[in-house]
Amino acid sequence: MTRLLAGQPVADAVRREVAAGVERLLARGGRRPGLAALLVGEDPASEVYVSSKTRGCREVGMDGRTVRLPAAASAAEVASTIAALNADPGIDGILVQLPLPPGLPESELLARVDPDKDVDGFHPVNVGRLWLDQEGFVPATPLGILELLRRNDVQLEGRRAVIVGRSPIVGKPLAALLLREHATVTVCHSRTRDLAAVCREGDILVAAVGRPALVGPEHVRAGAVVVDVGINRVSDPAEVERLFPGDEGRRATLARRGSVLVGDVDFQRVAPRAAAITPVPGGVGPITDVWLVGNALMAAAIAHQVEPRFGLFR
Ligand code: NAD
Repeated sequence: MTRLLAGQPVADAVRREVAAGVERLLARGGRRPGLAALLVGEDPASEVYVSSKTRGCREVGMDGRTVRLPAAASAAEVASTIAALNADPGIDGILVQLPLPPGLPESELLARVDPDKDVDGFHPVNVGRLWLDQEGFVPATPLGILELLRRNDVQLEGRRAVIVGRSPIVGKPLAALLLREHATVTVCHSRTRDLAAVCREGDILVAAVGRPALVGPEHVRAGAVVVDVGINRVSDPAEVERLFPGDEGRRATLARRGSVLVGDVDFQRVAPRAAAITPVPGGVGPITDVWLVGNALMAAAIAHQVEPRFGLFR
């Protein structure tokens, strides 16, 4: 029987723990933790993401505020806004919503965020800390994946983990985290030869590619734990029918919304081979959101010099 690794129960538990951590910080006489999301331009998807992140902060008792700049803002204006947030003692965590409008030097600007306020974990200092096994901020998605595996008692030590995708947001930091947990890690990418054969080596297989249903049963070792990070929209009715034959619910979603969400894993065909698998939606997504808030609490702990900073809400 395949186990479904649902994200929401883990997200709810983490959210409660973070809220309790905020309470503890306030009880010690600390200031209410504050997170600022910097939104440059008016991209509708970014608006939605930012409002859900700041709302998430408020739900656990933190201040969540959005700082806006027009799409035409210069790199110098963005840099000086980041500098002001770095210097603001009421702001513990800063996230710069990506993508920035074309023309702005993204990595240069991300590097201007104070590493101790870098709740997204994208700053080169935090990337270095992660690979050196030092305390620091880790991007929310890989942290969420690790927590999902841990809280579902998936053994990592000594096991083979195969990650498909080498992005700095998911694949690479997850590789570092799984190494830290003593897994033997392989990272695949667009130029990996015989992807299916490499994937079949995985006791744990993580797909973070951005290609709908790329991972089929031929990629999966029988009894593997499969984590699907992909969020893809499929609007072709024939493709939806191929992926989810006879699924009335998805047909209705397609008719209503014009597309359905599909992961990087062909869920219908892979699930029967797997010991456990995350659904899309409802798997990795919900924990990613809550973990950003967890990182903001850690940032507050740093500002308050509370020890142990990175275990405050455990
Ligand atoms: P990305 O585009 O930055 O990286 C994709 C990676 O996949 C690259 O390393 C590339 O080499 C690899 N790749 C591309 N085609 C491949 C192929 N045919 N075979 C093997 N590898 C291939 O993407 P990302 O930001 O890491 O996101 C990946 C997916 O995860 C997307 O669908 C994204 O929407 C989703 N995502 C979800 C969450 C969440 O909260 N659930 C968070 C972040 C990203």
